[in-house]
Amino acid sequence: MATRPKPAPRQYEISPRVELQASTRPYNRVAGAPHTRPLRIYTLDPSVSGRTGGIATVDVPYEDLDPGPAGTLFEIDPQGAPAPLKAGPLDLDHPYLLLQNGLSPSPDNGQFHLQMVYAVCSLTYAAFRRALGRDVAWGCGLSTGRGDTLRLRVRPFAFAEENAYYDRDDHGLSFGYFRAGGQPAGYTVPGGLVFASLSHDIIAHETSHALLDGLRSQFYQPSQPDVLGFHEGFADLVAYFLHFTYPNVVEQAIRDSAGLLSHASLLTNLATEFGYADSSSGPASALRSAVDVAGIATFDADELPPGKQGPKPYHQDMEAHELGSVLVSAVFEAFATVFRRKSERLLHIAGVTPGQFGPKNAEGPLVPAMAELASEIAGQFLNVCIRAIDYCPPVDMELCEYLRALITADVELVPDDRWGYREALMRAFRRRRLFPGHVEFMTEGAVKWDAPDPAVVIPDLAFSRLRFDGDPARAADAGELRRQAEALGAFVSSPAHAAAFHLVAPGTPPPKGVTYVSLPRVESVRCARRVSPNGAVVFDLIAEVLQTGTVERKGTLFDFTGGCTIVIDPFGQVRYVIHKRLGSADRQTRQFEAMRGPLAKFWIKEGKRLRPRPRMLKTLHAGMKQRRSQR
Ligand SMILES: [Zn+2]
Repeated sequence: MATRPKPAPRQYEISPRVELQASTRPYNRVAGAPHTRPLRIYTLDPSVSGRTGGIATVDVPYEDLDPGPAGTLFEIDPQGAPAPLKAGPLDLDHPYLLLQNGLSPSPDNGQFHLQMVYAVCSLTYAAFRRALGRDVAWGCGLSTGRGDTLRLRVRPFAFAEENAYYDRDDHGLSFGYFRAGGQPAGYTVPGGLVFASLSHDIIAHETSHALLDGLRSQFYQPSQPDVLGFHEGFADLVAYFLHFTYPNVVEQAIRDSAGLLSHASLLTNLATEFGYADSSSGPASALRSAVDVAGIATFDADELPPGKQGPKPYHQDMEAHELGSVLVSAVFEAFATVFRRKSERLLHIAGVTPGQFGPKNAEGPLVPAMAELASEIAGQFLNVCIRAIDYCPPVDMELCEYLRALITADVELVPDDRWGYREALMRAFRRRRLFPGHVEFMTEGAVKWDAPDPAVVIPDLAFSRLRFDGDPARAADAGELRRQAEALGAFVSSPAHAAAFHLVAPGTPPPKGVTYVSLPRVESVRCARRVSPNGAVVFDLIAEVLQTGTVERKGTLFDFTGGCTIVIDPFGQVRYVIHKRLGSADRQTRQFEAMRGPLAKFWIKEGKRLRPRPRMLKTLHAGMKQRRSQR
């Protein structure tokens, strides 16, 4: 009797993260429901409520809410408000609140804190969804009680400490509060309570950490200072660009600060202005700093004018926050450069010589026109900064690689760079000595990631084979995501293809320095639908495959991960394989040295093995106050 052949053992793994993509489902709008819910927020924090458009009414995407507020993405936990504050669950659907755009901003109303975090968390999520053209899944969360969906828990009164962080173990975001010093800013009385949950930028920053963790699980591994620097810089960029997207706020800031606008760098002045209360000239201190504008130049020259200092250059030994601020200042400089180019036309129409925009002409329709332009460009930068995540390697992110990701993401969507967005980005990175490795020239063609050569096609992942839930940016269900991951896993782990994806084929000897190699693990498979400024819609499938090895150095064992981000077009053709090799001895050495040196506080030793310490961002964010006073 013939026996049926046994199926070959599977040569790849599927991460639980793959199916998580189906567990975050924003509100599905029903016919007749409003698109947005207007709510009032502080645009910076309470210390600037009286100036520079400190309060704004923002349009939060509408969803059905339970008291909390608790919706499809966030569950705001009112517990823990310190006396004299009181905060029970907030019902934003109460008719009184519906009629007056929510509660009036006030630090002493505990329930307003709930509204503030809900509104800013929701706006940050909406910015990611808009940029990526899909639902962005959380990396953790609590059950919503509606199907298998998860939502992030947000605790505005989490602890009495000057800290705030995102963490998977807490299922979300935690914000602290503390007593102010003797000479606080704005409305805070000496020794009064100051809350991280009332700072727009801190809320947007922490939500961005959560979203980035949902998109790139390995960026939560403190393997290199650059990885932490990237988490920090990226979260700051989102926070800054987000508040530049409120045109009324920018308009008010232009009016209020007109006296400062004696030269062309309007945006860098505004950036300083937004962080007014954190000025280094006195002890007054808001919660969040402004963009580090020192050395930013919006003019198209690499030569510095005599007596001018250049920007702080990148160095791989910098501390994570310093690295983050180099990244922020580079992207911000490109933003300010594009704004200068585009605003010159407006100034000419208004009869103002560019460079002479100041108190005399900061009035009339020119101000709202300039503000709208700044907001529009900020929105474009916000989009490209977020989209670029899909073009980042899955592990061990380096700041210079973000430039390659930014350029690739933008070229894909906007082939004709009429205003020189990409040239401005390359110049700003170059000025900070952020040069991508293996790139011979700082030109668009060289900086953009390369397509695989020879071409690779994965027929099972062509769009004609995929199943969607109505919307091509949303996979049908968890089962369909698993099917896609299995098709990808089988393809990339086969001996014929593993090398093209820079993976170690199962059954082959481990690379030098690595004692054990896991099977390739499909970490995520996601659709992206992007709309270009000229209305073209671009679809892609973005996937991450990881492979972890054990490395031994000087008697210490640690996990070392490589892998690739794979971008696949609607016909199943692989467009990019953005990889990190498991066999890179240089990367192994750098991780080992970082774990023993600058990143030692993020690791604990268990026996012979180093493991990441829990609550990475808590450690990273500790000492916010100290850092501010050092500036
Ligand atoms: Zn952070």
